[in-house]
Amino acid sequence: MTTSKRLTSKSGITIPKDVRLSLGWQPGMSVDLVTTEEGALLIRPHVNHCRFCGGVENIRKYKDVCVCPDCAAKMKEAV
Ligand SMILES: [Zn+2]
Repeated sequence: MTTSKRLTSKSGITIPKDVRLSLGWQPGMSVDLVTTEEGALLIRPHVNHCRFCGGVENIRKYKDVCVCPDCAAKMKEAV
């Protein structure tokens, strides 16, 4: 599905209701904005990812910072 939208004066966009409903997205949900090598912007439901390596497996939060077990172990060795 391709939909054309114009950015607002503050560079925002509104996701059309039919697109949002087809994806099952609700107003207020968190999304991730990912740039691609092709110069595109991908919008997808938010997934916690490691702040240091970008991994998404077994993520834990410490003081609002998401970290994976591997990076946590490396930090533990470093201090
Ligand atoms: Zn990590």
